[in-house]
Amino acid sequence: MKNNFAFQLLFLLIAFNLLCVAVHGQAIGEQNLKKKIVCSTTQIADFAKNIVGNRWDVQSILGPGQDPHTHEVSAASAKLVSQADLCFQNGWNLEGHAWMEKICKESGKACVTCVDGVTPRKISEDGEIINDPHAWFSVDRAKVYVRNIFKAVAAADPDHKAFYLNNAAKYIVQLDTLKSEIKRDLAKIPPPRILATHHDAFGYFAEEYNFQIVSLAKWSTDEIGGGSTLDRRKELISTIREKGVKALFAETSIDPEIMKVICKETGAKLGGKLYSDAMGGKGSPGETYIGMMKQNVKIIVEALK
Ligand SMILES: [Zn+2]
Repeated sequence: MKNNFAFQLLFLLIAFNLLCVAVHGQAIGEQNLKKKIVCSTTQIADFAKNIVGNRWDVQSILGPGQDPHTHEVSAASAKLVSQADLCFQNGWNLEGHAWMEKICKESGKACVTCVDGVTPRKISEDGEIINDPHAWFSVDRAKVYVRNIFKAVAAADPDHKAFYLNNAAKYIVQLDTLKSEIKRDLAKIPPPRILATHHDAFGYFAEEYNFQIVSLAKWSTDEIGGGSTLDRRKELISTIREKGVKALFAETSIDPEIMKVICKETGAKLGGKLYSDAMGGKGSPGETYIGMMKQNVKIIVEALK
């Protein structure tokens, strides 16, 4: 009797293990069957995830805190793109020296540019007028990214167009709410509303929410955008002194050391680290685009109110 019970228990355990292997195998099989989206930046990957849900496998070449301007393409990112069914980039040279376009071209993949159709903020670059690539900082323009991603995904998988459209519409509603929350929270900041950061990533944000921006580097952290020259540093320091700027902000994708030095030199405080060109890691407030925008606003309000 006792032996019989032991035998039954053993049988059940084996059956359970076999079931686990089968379920796990099926999960891996489904994962492999999923079409792949590969994005250059974390923000674009987050927009894409909101549209495709679990239907596609969405990956980003850049990880949390990584700088798109100075990114050097690795064999791993080229491999990722070679396995992609759809590729997305920001565009307007956010990806320094057009690295995303280049790896897509090398793999024979089409690359959808998310800023297509976005109204650009114009900036001056050595006497030439160019488009500021940091357009996701305007929530209204982020909606154009979402539309572009939706169109590409729906064209690639028309059978599920209604599903993608529904997801995109829901996400747009969340973005509208985000925009009004940002406006409400930033209203607490008195003049002079100056956002002093490491590089000019916040131009669209400043336009949308009525700030003046000053920074150490120009629109790129790479030498292509002017980098952080001695003249820029002098200009930043004199603006801080003249306008009585209370706080400066470091950025999560850039070493904060130089901003700390300028704080010491001017007596301004370091207001914290803002998410600029990259979102945060898993479990951080900047894990999503909406989370990153809210966290930035929280930090800015705390430092400047
Ligand atoms: Zn940037």
